Formats: sequence, C-alpha cells, structure tokens
Amino acid sequence: AQRGLVRLRRLASETLDHVPIELQANLELPFELPMVAQSGATGIGLMRTEFLFMNRETVPDEDTQYTIYREAIEAMDGDPVTIRLLDWGSDKEAEALVASDAISVAREANPALGLRGIRLLLQNPKLLETQIAAVLRAAAFGPVRILVPMVSRISEIETVRHEVDRVWRRLRTRQTRLPALAPPIGIMVETPAAALNATAFARHVAFFAIGTNDLTMYAMAADRALSDRTGLYDPLNPAVLRLIAMTVAAGENAGVSVSICGELASRPEAVPLLIGLGLRQFSMHGGAVLRVKRAVRATEVTSCIGLAEAALMASGAKVVHALIAQTAIGS
Ligand code: PEP
Ligand code: MG
Repeated sequence: AQRGLVRLRRLASETLDHVPIELQANLELPFELPMVAQSGATGIGLMRTEFLFMNRETVPDEDTQYTIYREAIEAMDGDPVTIRLLDWGSDKEAEALVASDAISVAREANPALGLRGIRLLLQNPKLLETQIAAVLRAAAFGPVRILVPMVSRISEIETVRHEVDRVWRRLRTRQTRLPALAPPIGIMVETPAAALNATAFARHVAFFAIGTNDLTMYAMAADRALSDRTGLYDPLNPAVLRLIAMTVAAGENAGVSVSICGELASRPEAVPLLIGLGLRQFSMHGGAVLRVKRAVRATEVTSCIGLAEAALMASGAKVVHALIAQTAIGS
C-alpha cells in the first residue's frame, strides 16, 4: 500500500471530474521540515510557530526566528509558506513566556477563553513586532503568507495590518532586504465569532484558514483535550459544519481564498464532505497528504453536494458519520 501511495506523489491532486484540490502541509516541529518538503504537499498551509518558544528560558530574538522561517521557505522551493503568528495560551504550554519578565502572561481560570493567540500578542507589542520583522525579512526568500490566530474581532486584524505596515517601513528605511510586496495577511477562522462574521472579515483579509480543532471546541463548548465519552467534541457535528459552510460562502462571495487546516482535513473519509461544503484547499500533517490525495482522486464533486446538504441538515454527528461511511472510499 505504501508503494501505491508513493506513486501518487507525481499524480495531480484533482477529483474524478478534474476539479483541482490544493493539498498543503502543517508544520509543527522543525525536524518535520524535510518530511514536509517531500510529502507531496504544494506548500505549508500552517506553520505553527509555537515550537520556537518552547523549552527555552528566553524569547527567541528576531535573527533566531528569521533563520528558522527562512529555512522553511527555502526548503519549500517556491511553494507558499503560511507562517502563523504565535498562538500561545490555552493548551499550549507557556514555559518560555512565563519565564521571561518581558512578557506578560496572565494566570487565568479559563485559559482557552483568555489571552491566547492574537490577544496575547496585542498585550505584548514587542513580541508581535519582533515576529513580524523576522517574517518580513524571511519573505525575501520565497512566497509567504501571514496567518493570525484566535481572531474574534475585526479590530484585531486592523491592528496587525497597521503593525505590519509600520515594521515594513522601518525595515525599508534601514535598507533591509525585503520582498517586492508585503505578504498577504489572513486569519484563522477558529472562533464562532470569526465564522459568523466571515462576510465582514472578508473585507479585511486576504485569506481564511479554518481551524476545526478550536472551532469545534468553541462551537460545542467542549474542551479539545477532553477525553470525551460524551461525543460532544466532534468536528462533524452539524453546528461545526454550518460554521464551515458560512465561512466558505463568505470567502467565495468576496473572492477570499479559504483553506481548512484542523485535524479534520487529514481524514480521508471526510474528503467528500469537505469538498461538498465547497473547500478546495486542505492543509494537514505531512504524513497524511498522499492518503488524502488518494481520496481526492476517487471523489466526484457533483456527487458531494448532496452529501454536504444532508450533513448540514442532519440531527447530529452520529448521522453525519453514517452518511460519510456510506460514501466511504477507504483510506
Ligand atoms: C485549529 O485550531 O484547528 C488549528 C489548526 O490550530 P491549532 O491546532 O494549532 O490550535
Ligand atoms: Mg487553533
């Protein structure tokens, strides 16, 4: 089976009816980079930069960050790299930041509902500025997109854009090597607020990346780390699918590209449903790319529409699982 998969690397990622589906990889840890570059992915759809801040006493400086981003960009050899700004907080361990007096990290009763992601960055402007500067410098070496985590208000993305413009001007006056254009800025759609308000957000961003891991947690009010015998935490719950569908529709209407980068995107059995919901760009663990490609190549878009409609109208996740099983093309 593995040899069959390897053969897929050279084949196009398109459906039976020739609709191209873009498959990108998530990068979580630096040692995964060679695997991701060889995975058959056409770019990095989500670079989780949290690893840079883990298991160290101090916050990594601009040059340290720049070197790592540049390495990823060069390894992808012209394919786009989507660098997500630090998504610290909630289930992500805060050792490095807590250790640094320069950074304010509140101790909160409900960290998932507190200062995580962009909220924490906006409270720590120096941290944001340093990361943006490192990303802008690295962007001179290949196509880069800036992805903002945990957005729930338009004002947050406005502030980031303002900050990117300011850092860009500062670097330019110092004659730093920069790309011809500043990278596009997009948001993670991982709070219900972002999905429900996607039409308004679409006027302010270049792309959406749907994060089903957190979107499920916040939509269902069920912890993603919960060992869950209740079945509450399930991205296939129609409530979550509805939020995905709203985001796709808003993106389509505004010409804003939409990708999906939560764990759901790495499940081959979910491919027909996600394609039926209108998704054409997936980002997943590098090891899943070829299996998802195989599912894509066995799928017909026209036959996915009815599946998506039925799933949106289903009475619960169980029914959606059954619908998917009926159309299963195997993994
Ligand atoms: C998500 O929330 O779905 C996501 C992709 O981000 P992370 O898993 O890093 O929170
Ligand atoms: Mg997330």
